[in-house]
Amino acid sequence: MSTYDVVIIGGGIVGVATALRITDRYPDFSVAIIEKEADLALHQTGRNSGVIHAGVYYKPGTMKALFCREGVEATIQFCKEHSIPFDQCGKLIVATKPDDLPRMIALHERSKENGLDVERLDAKELARREPRITGLGALFVPTTGIVDYSVVARTMGAEVKRRGGEILTGHEVRGIREESDGVTIETGRATIKARHLIVCGGIMADRLAKLSGLMLDFQLVPFRGEYFRLGSDKDDIVKHLIYPVPDPALPFLGVHLTRMIGGYVTVGPNAVLAFAREGYRFTDFSFKDTAEVLGYRGFRTLARTHLALGLSEMANSLSKRRYLALCRQYCPELKVEDLQPYRAGIRAQAVMADGTIEHDFIIRSTSRIVHVCNAPSPAATSSMPIARAVVDRAATQFGW
Ligand SMILES: Cc1cc2nc3c(=O)[nH]c(=O)nc-3n(C[C@H](O)[C@H](O)[C@H](O)COP(=O)(O)OP(=O)(O)OC[C@H]3O[C@@H](n4cnc5c(N)ncnc54)[C@H](O)[C@@H]3O)c2cc1C
Repeated sequence: MSTYDVVIIGGGIVGVATALRITDRYPDFSVAIIEKEADLALHQTGRNSGVIHAGVYYKPGTMKALFCREGVEATIQFCKEHSIPFDQCGKLIVATKPDDLPRMIALHERSKENGLDVERLDAKELARREPRITGLGALFVPTTGIVDYSVVARTMGAEVKRRGGEILTGHEVRGIREESDGVTIETGRATIKARHLIVCGGIMADRLAKLSGLMLDFQLVPFRGEYFRLGSDKDDIVKHLIYPVPDPALPFLGVHLTRMIGGYVTVGPNAVLAFAREGYRFTDFSFKDTAEVLGYRGFRTLARTHLALGLSEMANSLSKRRYLALCRQYCPELKVEDLQPYRAGIRAQAVMADGTIEHDFIIRSTSRIVHVCNAPSPAATSSMPIARAVVDRAATQFGW
């Protein structure tokens, strides 16, 4: 049986950043990351928009607001130190209809409360900066950037290994037993013992928490985000990232035009209820995952509240023309034939038992385990501040 000071379950960016932080702060600790897939970053971390979010949207004082802002600097610093390509290209949040204007102004106020330097542009200035985009006005966020988070996570993983940490891929955790002298972790292939455990399981975080005996007042619900890629003739269509003004009640930012680090542009993501936690195609179906969502009272309450929106997202997913209409609101030149297939991602979103969406990150702990339970966007941007918070909590709680 292998024994470690600390084991981290989950080889996404949050787990790997946490392992890196531990090797940094406690170089004598033996550390291992356990990941069920054959490589790191194959789920949310490798299937997102690749945006280094500035921190505009989040309620001031929340972990999201604080960690996102710090995360911009930390991510860029890490990229510079490890020669990872990134581009702080800035973004425009575009108001396309009169209803958007008061929400855009409210967002501007919020960005100021979050300490950001965001500029308001009128329609003429928007057209000057982005001639192929139309709108009634926009917010310009200069600090937003782009990066490939799977490269960031794999680089962090290589750094953990260089410092003596181990990465055990192909090990799916099936049992967690917390005892007075440590934690025993059963994977399909091995029994592993740890003095302390940190769980960063992404969309599986709630199941792993329950597996260790934790009682939860929320459940993770999978929302698929579907993207298209624009053809290479549209690589220069925009200089910035282009976002709509989002619905403040929801944690999703709306279908946006994203310049990717590889030089192409994507459109997306929407937010459609997924019928499998790791099912990336519309047709992917898991009876267990679907029954779990539909059987959850919190989800049923949420679905009743947002029924019209949920059905509309489904319809947009099934019809390319409807999806296109969302982007044509701000980019009228786009045509159906511009939308080429691109990989989808699945967001892990905590829904509380009363049917409300938990917007902030959730971190819970027991006497030997810390669980990162809800780490939706902008958790890729915020991975290093989240890791710091997790390790600080472990240090206090476990007496490290
Ligand atoms: C469509 C989409 C767009 C997004 N866009 C952005 C963006 O632009 N900017 C941003 O900052 N954030 C964005 N996000 C959010 C961001 O991608 C996530 O918040 C972040 O990647 C979460 O990282 P994680 O490590 O918690 O989860 P994950 O990357 O999902 O990693 C969890 C890992 O745990 C492993 N695991 C699970 N169960 C087990 C088990 N039993 N045994 C072993 N291993 C297990 C999984 O295999 C997985 O590798 C987006 C997310 C999505 C889905």
